[in-house]
Amino acid sequence: MFENTARTELSSLGEFGLIDHITKHIELTQTSTIKGVGDDAAILQFDAEQIVVSTDMLLEGIHFDLSYVPLKHLGYKSIVVNLSDIYSMNAIPTQVLVSIGVSNRFSLEAIEEIYQGMNIACKRYGVDLVGGDTSASKQGLVISVTAIGKQEAIKITKREGAGINDLLCVSGDLGAAYMGLQLLEREKNVYLNNPEIQPDLEGYDYIVERQLKPEARKDIIEILKEKEIIPTSMIDVSDGLASEILHLCKSSNLGCSVYEEKIPIDPMTYDAARMFNLDPTVCALSGGEDYELLFTVKQSDFDKLKNNPDISIIGHMTQQSEGPQLVSKSGNQHKITAQGWNAFNL
Ligand code: ADP
Ligand code: MG
Repeated sequence: MFENTARTELSSLGEFGLIDHITKHIELTQTSTIKGVGDDAAILQFDAEQIVVSTDMLLEGIHFDLSYVPLKHLGYKSIVVNLSDIYSMNAIPTQVLVSIGVSNRFSLEAIEEIYQGMNIACKRYGVDLVGGDTSASKQGLVISVTAIGKQEAIKITKREGAGINDLLCVSGDLGAAYMGLQLLEREKNVYLNNPEIQPDLEGYDYIVERQLKPEARKDIIEILKEKEIIPTSMIDVSDGLASEILHLCKSSNLGCSVYEEKIPIDPMTYDAARMFNLDPTVCALSGGEDYELLFTVKQSDFDKLKNNPDISIIGHMTQQSEGPQLVSKSGNQHKITAQGWNAFNL
């Protein structure tokens, strides 16, 4: 099951031995971290900023499938998806806490791989791993990550706050992680039916990577800062564009018009969707795990954003009575629902 050939049983270390082993090389870089791992609680000190905190749990068999998710990627992704929630508040993540539940099915080497991925993510995003909890689990692997971040109160962006006519923007491209998942699931089934056939993922690196090793849009938060834009509302795209649009509309008591032709979809996502007989727009609307940022800005910020290749303006906010609407390529209007594909035939 695991690539490492050596196998050290977790029972040979015990809980404290395991904690020691996975935390001994942790480096701390944030000035707000006063004390990390090693006491009953971590000690943090922030100045005048507000603190944002978010937590997410990943369960084997529900959120990930170890038959095609490498452990290192899993560790990486478990950190990144939490940081994405902090960025979506327009805040800067500073610390994470990691709790794991592991069964004896896992060796020390397997846990090490997970932590390798976590440490790479922490380093890349500049956050300190300051604590967690370790428990035995009867069956599946459980990973729970809590992320902490900071921002000046006036710069924190919530789901509420969008105004009528504000521009609706999204970073990057959408639907790729979902298509990557379809591809991985297909290859898993091929493998289960005939273990001699090796997975064929060639030519689909981008979408597979978007699924296995997503990134949080730290860069977009930096661009917004540099351009002195504070979004009027923001959310990260974890459950699919449609669902996130509905959250922004609901929290801000508004409707919106989104233009299908403006929704950013990578050509590889497009091709893969066609291969699976899926509508690429539907994949972007209803697929998940893109971890892009969906946000609204005032019309007066248009000039600052219009030439940015990483940001697409996909629509604008309208009166609540208009509801959330998708304007299709042919000009027809469709009400946006959480499961995009039931409601309209594009
Ligand atoms: P307690 O009994 O007070 O919960 P633990 O023995 O669980 O203490 O934890 C000791 C220290 O190790 C604490 O600082 C805790 O945050 C940290 N820690 C425990 N498990 C993990 C883990 N999986 N990853 C990172 N740090 C951990
Ligand atoms: Mg504990």
